[in-house]
Amino acid sequence: MIAILTRDADVARVRRALAERGLWVESVQHPASGGGVLLTTSGYSTAVPADEIAAIPGVEAVYQTKSPHPRVDAQPRPLRLGEIAVGPGERPILISGPCSVESPEQIREIARRLALHEVAYLRGGAYKPRTSPYSFQGHGDKALGWLREAADEFGMRVVTEALGEDQVAEVAEVADMIQIGSRNMQNFSLLKAVGRAEKPVLLKRAMSATVEEWLLAGEYLLSNGAAGVVFCERGIRGFDPSTRNLLDLGAVALLATVHGLPVIVDPSHATGRRELVVPLGRAAVAAGAAGLMIETHHEPGEALSDGAQAVPPEIVAELAAELRGGARR
Ligand code: PEP
Ligand code: MN
Repeated sequence: MIAILTRDADVARVRRALAERGLWVESVQHPASGGGVLLTTSGYSTAVPADEIAAIPGVEAVYQTKSPHPRVDAQPRPLRLGEIAVGPGERPILISGPCSVESPEQIREIARRLALHEVAYLRGGAYKPRTSPYSFQGHGDKALGWLREAADEFGMRVVTEALGEDQVAEVAEVADMIQIGSRNMQNFSLLKAVGRAEKPVLLKRAMSATVEEWLLAGEYLLSNGAAGVVFCERGIRGFDPSTRNLLDLGAVALLATVHGLPVIVDPSHATGRRELVVPLGRAAVAAGAAGLMIETHHEPGEALSDGAQAVPPEIVAELAAELRGGARR
């Protein structure tokens, strides 16, 4: 059982009231987003009807569920990231930037052009998960600084990936949202460490993860303190090499419609082909995506990673204009 308390609740009194009813409080979470305290009771507690718990002064809402991911279920809808609301029914958010942060000039130029088009978050990898150890691995901590500077200059937020536990602190320092890459979706030690940073997290779906596994990865983050989880569908492994991956829009519609969760789509990694980014971006929003993450480059042919799927920043403008016009869901 999870009880969400009112902002002004006397936590100690609520705990006593629960204990009197045989409910053992297992964890007390103070959401970084500033909402009410979250109390979770142990599965061995006495069964008490939800309305009796809801009547305790200071309790705002009660969730009694057999769901394996109660915190994901209880995540506020919509999710608020500062002044931005993310979730079904909200205006889709745009996240864009290069695959890798290559130089201060490259990220500045891309940021400058994206900032004209309502892109809320500047993305770019400082640490890159590459299939081959001989491929460009990213410029590391230097790139984090370049990314932050470019975002600050043009009034954008930053989302970037923490590839390993040893990078969580420095990524958390510069990022407004920490990205968990596909290949790390079930790296449970990393999920715990990123959760403890108490930041919002962009959780990319692993290329062979079931929806349940994806939701449970979100549960790891939230149960360790993450300020919120935005799910990101980026294509699962298909059999056909014509596209890099297979965009699972069914899962997007499921998360948005059945679970009411904020799920965004990355049509760049989903297809691996720049000419498919816009059509699948549109399809994603039509299926219920709460936003898009699109890889852009000012010189797509020169990109140090994922050049084949990079589009010029102005392509994002086209999509932004359509979304402003009210893409239907
Ligand atoms: C990325 O978004 O930079 C990335 C590496 O994507 P994925 O983890 O989905 O492959
Ligand atoms: Mn990439």
